[in-house]
Amino acid sequence: MGAGPAGLTAALYAGRSMKRTVLLEAGIPGGELLNTENIEDYPGFASITGPDLAGKMTEHALSFGAELVSARVTAIDLEPDGFKRIELEEGDPYFAKAVILAAGGQPRKLDVPGEKEYAGRGVSYCAVCDGAFFRGEHLAVVGGGDAALEEAAFLTRYASKVTVIHRRSEFRAQPLLVERARQNPKMEFLLDAVVEEIRGDGMRVESVRLR
Ligand SMILES: Cc1cc2nc3c(=O)[nH]c(=O)nc-3n(C[C@H](O)[C@H](O)[C@H](O)COP(=O)(O)OP(=O)(O)OC[C@H]3O[C@@H](n4cnc5c(N)ncnc54)[C@H](O)[C@@H]3O)c2cc1C
Repeated sequence: MGAGPAGLTAALYAGRSMKRTVLLEAGIPGGELLNTENIEDYPGFASITGPDLAGKMTEHALSFGAELVSARVTAIDLEPDGFKRIELEEGDPYFAKAVILAAGGQPRKLDVPGEKEYAGRGVSYCAVCDGAFFRGEHLAVVGGGDAALEEAAFLTRYASKVTVIHRRSEFRAQPLLVERARQNPKMEFLLDAVVEEIRGDGMRVESVRLR
């Protein structure tokens, strides 16, 4: 279930192990890769666009016999004989001995003007994936939990400065992470601040407006 990188990899191995394999995908194969402009950290490809890599992964996975079906899974139940009954939004259910769940995840969005427009052009949801594109720049990380402080600390490898913007007066992150962040000379904090808009020049992000 799910034809992102995880599901495509699972389908490749299942097909190659001569298992009858059906790959159920609600959207277009590739998952979050399709939202990625440029990938520079996938071994074997110095630089490749997300959609190109998704296309290659799909072709590769299907070459071992997996069948790709365009369908949204709505429920999975256990039958008395041990088979799994996989209900779809439309059409007949499938029955399988095993189901691999590879439905991925969705980053939590800010839902502010500019976020969608500049996604992949300055708005990112993954520091490890995109940090290297912003060498020497002043970056902002929005959030106050463990993930925000870990991502912000990682970004200081590349950025000239990282400003953590958090809507509350205290961080939710583990105290150890907060302490490390406070001692990091490249990190600064804006507390009780809410991002209201992400602004740019039409091509790239330039600033954020705060309340
Ligand atoms: C902007 C951006 C840039 C990124 N850049 C990089 C990068 O440079 N390098 C890197 O390594 N990673 C990068 N990532 C992260 C990478 O894309 C994800 O880690 C990866 O896609 C996760 O793969 P996945 O298969 O687990 O999930 P997903 O890619 O989320 O795929 C899940 C799939 O399951 C399908 N699905 C969900 N529910 C159902 C259902 N009920 N029925 C049927 N199908 C369903 C979805 O439609 C989707 O196609 C980036 C992510 C984003 C958003």
